[in-house]
Amino acid sequence: MPVLVMKFGGTSVANIDRIRRAAKRVGVEVAKGYDVIVIVSAMSGKTNELVGWVNETSPMYDAREYDAILSSGETVTAGLMALTLQEMDVPARSWQGWQVPLKTNSAHSAARIEEIPTDNINAKFGDGMRVAVVAGFQGISPEGRITTLGRGGSDTTAVAFAAAFEAERCDIYTDVDGIYTTDPRIASKARKLDKIAFEEMLELASLGAKVLQTRSVELAMRYNVKLRVLSSFEEQSDNAGTLVCDEEDIVESNVVSGIAYSRDEAKMTLVSVADRPGIAAAIFGPLSDAGVNVDMIIQNIAEEGRTDMTFSCPTDQVKRAEKALNGAKESGEINYHDLIADTDVAKVSAVGIGMRSQSGVAAKMFKTLSDEGVNIKVIATSEIKISVLIDRKYMELAVQALHDVFELEKTA
Ligand code: ASP
Ligand code: MG
Repeated sequence: MPVLVMKFGGTSVANIDRIRRAAKRVGVEVAKGYDVIVIVSAMSGKTNELVGWVNETSPMYDAREYDAILSSGETVTAGLMALTLQEMDVPARSWQGWQVPLKTNSAHSAARIEEIPTDNINAKFGDGMRVAVVAGFQGISPEGRITTLGRGGSDTTAVAFAAAFEAERCDIYTDVDGIYTTDPRIASKARKLDKIAFEEMLELASLGAKVLQTRSVELAMRYNVKLRVLSSFEEQSDNAGTLVCDEEDIVESNVVSGIAYSRDEAKMTLVSVADRPGIAAAIFGPLSDAGVNVDMIIQNIAEEGRTDMTFSCPTDQVKRAEKALNGAKESGEINYHDLIADTDVAKVSAVGIGMRSQSGVAAKMFKTLSDEGVNIKVIATSEIKISVLIDRKYMELAVQALHDVFELEKTA
């Protein structure tokens, strides 16, 4: 029988009533003839509560115990979902990550999936079981300890199961009805997209559209898993959600598909560093060793052998970056006159696969921002994305203006 993966996020399993409603949706798919693998998150708020308890107990916690504790939220919902389905006369059984076993590496709290054997669950499907309910987020390390896949990791569990079982589709049920052209709370004209390409979704996911864990989109792209994001709160009939798919499956699209933003950016400038071969390596090496996620970089024109180097990173990594750079200065690896951190900036990006074949998008974006009197501090581009760093107070304005100028409220 064809396999369908259905993943329910925290708000979709927030209480017993919500679990019942989710189970009804599962029942509908079973009746259509699918064998279903249900992946569940913890009840909403549960994982945060567990993190709180860990921190209260041991601020410098042991990551193996952190994972043992955090994984418990999903264990509970998996059992409850299986029981609920059984109450509805749907043959169902729950699995914890280690029982599958979902094998990961040993990177506790951010583990990578290495293998998902299918024989165990397939044997049960062969025996008449119709639904395998699997606790999302959990795995088992080579040492036999429970691991977790990082916050939001149930999405990745779902996609990995869809790939392993060659599922027809992977439906991600959440509390929004799909992926929007931008955040509807910022631009009221934001429109739900019917389809979005993996690569675009990847840019949007990592830029702060927090619907899917970035890793899950990477996996879906690699294994060409058809991903659908849809609401578990809406009526089933008019709820097609957004399909995240290969760009070849998208016939028509706007040049720009979405405007993303990220509030928590900081801009750091090293004033007057020596302009010599190896200087970039000497600056960004220590930053990378310190785990700073450098995003955009600009090096200014040199004057008298000295130049300014500017980069952006998440606001909460500024202290770490300062420490790494000061350390490199003290040890004589680099030399600069001043280190300036500007934490009042935000990043706004236009994303779209259509940019590959159309020029002028950047020019239009810069003109629009200039007409609004918004100063651009740093620019970065890729094949399908243009990002600018601007003062945070103009972020909303910039998102709205760009959404308007690229006419994202209209379908292609
Ligand atoms: N419960 C975990 C979290 O909140 C995993 C997930 O829901 O995807 O991060
Ligand atoms: Mg999530």
